[in-house]
Amino acid sequence: MIDFQPMFTAVRQAAALCKRVQEHHIMSSEKAGREPVTIADYGSQAILGRAVSLAFPDDGILAEESGAQFIEIVPEDERKAVIALLAVILGIEVRQTDVVRWLDHGQGREAERTWVIDPIDGTKGFLALRNYVIAAGVMVDHKPVAGVIGSPAYPTLDRGGAMFHAQSGAAFMQPLAGGLAKRIKVSDRTDAESVRALESVEKSHANHERMARVREAAGLGAASLTRIDSMEKYARIAAGGAELYLRLPRIDSTRPFMAWDHAAGTALVEAAGGLVTDIDGSPLDFSGGRALANQGIIVSNGHIHARVIAAVQKVLAAGE
Ligand code: AMP
Ligand code: MG
Repeated sequence: MIDFQPMFTAVRQAAALCKRVQEHHIMSSEKAGREPVTIADYGSQAILGRAVSLAFPDDGILAEESGAQFIEIVPEDERKAVIALLAVILGIEVRQTDVVRWLDHGQGREAERTWVIDPIDGTKGFLALRNYVIAAGVMVDHKPVAGVIGSPAYPTLDRGGAMFHAQSGAAFMQPLAGGLAKRIKVSDRTDAESVRALESVEKSHANHERMARVREAAGLGAASLTRIDSMEKYARIAAGGAELYLRLPRIDSTRPFMAWDHAAGTALVEAAGGLVTDIDGSPLDFSGGRALANQGIIVSNGHIHARVIAAVQKVLAAGE
């Protein structure tokens, strides 16, 4: 069993840092592939990398950002700003060499257990003050078996966001600020009128039209549809607040799915009793390292999964 406490603390610290950046100094750079990255991405990954290095020193890490990239693309004044923020939030003295070391900690290491970290998943949502998550999945034998997801904009009663974690086939939710962790399970809804579907906000991330055709072909045309950034979509399904999350790329997309965008979410949904598969029903293949080889992603409460797979195949066969 993994003692998640150090990671809960780290996710809370990372969320505090993200909030500070959002409120006071949002700045973003563009990395290769024209994706935005902010100083909060680096700050958050540094906090999580440091936590893994202290609590799980033998574990490996697969993470989105790197120390070299931090030095290369972040201007000096912004680096200084995030180093100062880290010092305040961690309550320790922090130098640039520490940040680089934490960003790179465990990367490229073959280990029994690997943490798959997305320091801010949904950076576009973060920049637009919508939804984003801080995620750390755990892989053993190239399979996501556990993980933690902090979701600052998750719609909770206290508006304080939520934190999710999963391991050993059980999934839990607690207030992000701390409190009792309650067991969560997927819902058993199956009829179209009550099914709640989710997809990305960003049109460039997935093919909204094709996904609408798939819902129609699955007999789920009447399902409600909500667009949310980030792996929060997985969390909503795990917590029984939605039943379907489709991610079908644009026809001309050459961009692979990235391991850190799906590892923690997959572990969470599976532990809550749901299913996460490729469009043919096979499990996502995390054995290739950073990139996954699947053609699309279907996440569901399990009960509607077969219908959706058949619908995707039908839509693909019709060349749509
Ligand atoms: P979501 O908020 O669910 O759309 O997912 C956010 C993730 O989409 C980011 O972390 C990126 O890794 C990924 N992403 C960014 N650009 C693209 C793209 N053009 N196509 C597919 N995924 C993308
Ligand atoms: Mg991401």
